[in-house]
Amino acid sequence: MSETSPRLRAQLEGIPTYKPGRPAASGGTTTYKLSSNENPYPPLPGVMDQVAQSARNLHRYPDMACTALTGKLAEHFGVPASHIATGTGSVGVAQQLLQATSGPGDEVVYAWRSFEAYPIIVQISGAASVQVPLRPDEGHDLDAMADAITDRTRMIFVCNPNNPTGTVVRRTELKRFLDRVPSDVLVVLDEAYREFNRDAEVPDGVEIYRDRPNVAVLRTFSKAYGLAGLRVGFAIAHEPVAEALRKTAVPFGVSQIAQDAAVASLHAKDQLLERVDALVTERERVISGLRGQGWSVAETHANFVWLRLGERTVDFAGACERAGVVIRPFPGEGVRVTIAEPEANDLFVRAAEEFRKEL
Ligand SMILES: *Cc1c(COP(=O)(O)O)cnc(C)c1O
Repeated sequence: MSETSPRLRAQLEGIPTYKPGRPAASGGTTTYKLSSNENPYPPLPGVMDQVAQSARNLHRYPDMACTALTGKLAEHFGVPASHIATGTGSVGVAQQLLQATSGPGDEVVYAWRSFEAYPIIVQISGAASVQVPLRPDEGHDLDAMADAITDRTRMIFVCNPNNPTGTVVRRTELKRFLDRVPSDVLVVLDEAYREFNRDAEVPDGVEIYRDRPNVAVLRTFSKAYGLAGLRVGFAIAHEPVAEALRKTAVPFGVSQIAQDAAVASLHAKDQLLERVDALVTERERVISGLRGQGWSVAETHANFVWLRLGERTVDFAGACERAGVVIRPFPGEGVRVTIAEPEANDLFVRAAEEFRKEL
């Protein structure tokens, strides 16, 4: 018997592991988790009732085609049902897009820093990541991204608003960029935080994709709709791409509970978007609090704020934790802090003030 272990794909070596936001400490004083961009509000009673009802059929496989959800989404966005592809969270759909487009020898372009899942899923695909640094104002450098396109480029992520900086790409610059992208390169507009945007110059990806067959829009029920635990997201894309997504889907990946809760959430959209409004109001309150203390805060249109703290990042995260809020540090770069319930935001703003006094 040999001592070697099963041979694994070389691409898996050195893959950074996804760091989930630290959970809030339990016991003792209340601690709030502001580290994963989750919605602080629990599911609506109507959605919970649907979940309970759907749970009665857990001995059955889910509807593999997600028919009801797909139909509802098609109606909601005014697109053909054949342009909708659902998956296990939008990260699951992003991974399917990579499976469909990219492999060894190919390149995938995206801004950096951006969503942490990108380098991981690109590396798993076997393609190479081409990371284009953000501009000094923390936004995407679309000119540099267009310059980074080569014959090997197969896919480009544009994260709008960007995680973790919260910055946005506006209509004119996005269109100018898309005009420079070869028509056989897929551009993925990751709009996980779309509902939190309040800038009219930021285009709805659905408006952009209509006359551009090489654009796919990614959306999720995890953030504004508060269903992060159920894993359901979707893409809107023209048929060849949407069809490729159906081919690469894990069979029965999206549970029936997730499908039904997503449909119920679309029905309760107005109520859910009121919560989003409340979070946006809180975001503006937090930003003006921080700016009033002298912090320079990048513009954000997501449910989080970004502070570029450099060397002080880890110390700041420690200070916040002692104050009762767990935030997300990116050591050496900065912190991302999710906007949550007012009490949690207050604790954070107060911790930031104390930290500043001691600088
Ligand atoms: C949170 C997030 C997602 C959503 O992930 P799900 O898999 O849908 O939960 C996608 N993209 C970005 C940039 C995110 O921050």
